[in-house]
Amino acid sequence: MASRESAPSVPEVRLKDLSPAVSPIELVARIVTFDRREVTRRADGSRRPLASGLLSDGTASVRFTWWDPPREGLERGTVVRAVGAEVREFRGRPEVTFTWRTRVGPASPAELPRVDGEEVPFRTVRELVAPLEGFRLEARVVRVAPRSVTVGEERRVVHEGLLADRTGAVALSSWSDFGLVAGEAVRVAGGYVRTFRGRPQLVLDERATVVRIEGTDLPDPTELLRAPPRSIARVEDEGGGAAVAVEGLVVGLLPPSGLVYRCPTCQRSVKNGLCRVHGQVDGQLDLRARIVLDDGTGSLTVNAGRADTERLGGLTLDDARRRLRDQPDPSLIAEELLERLLGRRLRVRGSGTRDDFGVTITPESIEPVEVDLDSTAEELATRLGGGRS
Ligand SMILES: [Zn+2]
Repeated sequence: MASRESAPSVPEVRLKDLSPAVSPIELVARIVTFDRREVTRRADGSRRPLASGLLSDGTASVRFTWWDPPREGLERGTVVRAVGAEVREFRGRPEVTFTWRTRVGPASPAELPRVDGEEVPFRTVRELVAPLEGFRLEARVVRVAPRSVTVGEERRVVHEGLLADRTGAVALSSWSDFGLVAGEAVRVAGGYVRTFRGRPQLVLDERATVVRIEGTDLPDPTELLRAPPRSIARVEDEGGGAAVAVEGLVVGLLPPSGLVYRCPTCQRSVKNGLCRVHGQVDGQLDLRARIVLDDGTGSLTVNAGRADTERLGGLTLDDARRRLRDQPDPSLIAEELLERLLGRRLRVRGSGTRDDFGVTITPESIEPVEVDLDSTAEELATRLGGGRS
C-alpha cells in the first residue's frame, strides 16, 4: 500500500506540450465534454465504467479516457488537477488516460496555466470554428456592451459584442471586464470558441489576456458597419453570420406577428397562458413582426422587436392595445401590420443564424430604403426578362 501512496513526483505539463515520451504527468485542465458509459470486459464479461471527453487548459484541447470515473459524473466546465495521468498517441495526436493510479481532484480556474499570446498560433476570424482553444487573434472591437444575466442564483455581467478582422466578424462574450471600447484594436489570447445559436462565439474569461495593438491592418469599424448588403442567397450559403447586411422587399409576415403575449420572467412568447419554461403565467402584451424579406435571390426572416415594429408599422403598442379593447381579435393587428409593410424595401443589419427553416436575422438596425422608381422599374423589367441587354 505504501508504494501506491507515495507516488513519485511527475512533471506538470501543459496540454500543448503533451508527448508520449513524457508520461505519466501532472496536469490542470477544464472538462469541456464528459460522456460516461460502461464497457464489457472480455475476460470475465463484467461491466466497467468509463468516461471520455475533451479537456482543455487554454493552450490546447485533447481527448481523455477515464477509467472508473466519479459515479456522480462531472459537470462541464469543472477544473481538475490530475497527478499520474498517462499520455498516449492516437492517430498522431496525444491523448491522456486517467487510470487507477491517477489521482484526480478539483482545482480552481486560477490554477490553469497562464496563456502567453506569443506562444499560441495566430488565427483569423474565419478560422475560428468551435471547439477551439489555444490561439491568439488580432481584431477590431466593432461594438461591445455589458448585459446583466442570471447564472444559477447569481447575477453576473457579461460583455457582449462583435470583433472583426479582414476575414470576417465573430460574436464576443466576455465574463471578465477588459474595458473593451468600440473601435480599438486588440490582441486576444486564452479565449475559446464555442457554438452559440449555430454560430461561432469567442468566449473570454478571467484567464484570457487582452492587449491593445496598433491594428493598422484591421478594418475600420465604421466601414464594417456600413458594409454594403449582400445577396440573401450568399447569406444562406454562409449560414448567416455575426454581421449580416441584406436588402430586400417585404413579401410577408410569419406568425406570431402583431400582438403577442410574453412571459414576464423570460420574455418567451406565451401560448394559451402557458410559458414553455414557467408554466401558467400572466402574459404581458408585446408587439413584434416576423418579416419575410426577399431580394430575388432568396428570402429570410427578420425578427423585429417592439421598437422596430412600432416605427415601421406606424402603430404603437398602446394603439394596438386600445384597438384590441374595441375589437378583441388580435389577428386584425397582424393584418394591419402586413398591409403597412408589404412591398416595402428594407435594409437590415444584424446577426443571422440558419436552421432547417432558413436564415433568421436578429436585427440591430432596420432602415426603410427610399425607392427609386426608375431603378425599381428597371429591376422589375430585368427580372421579367424584358430588360435592355
Ligand atoms: Zn417564462
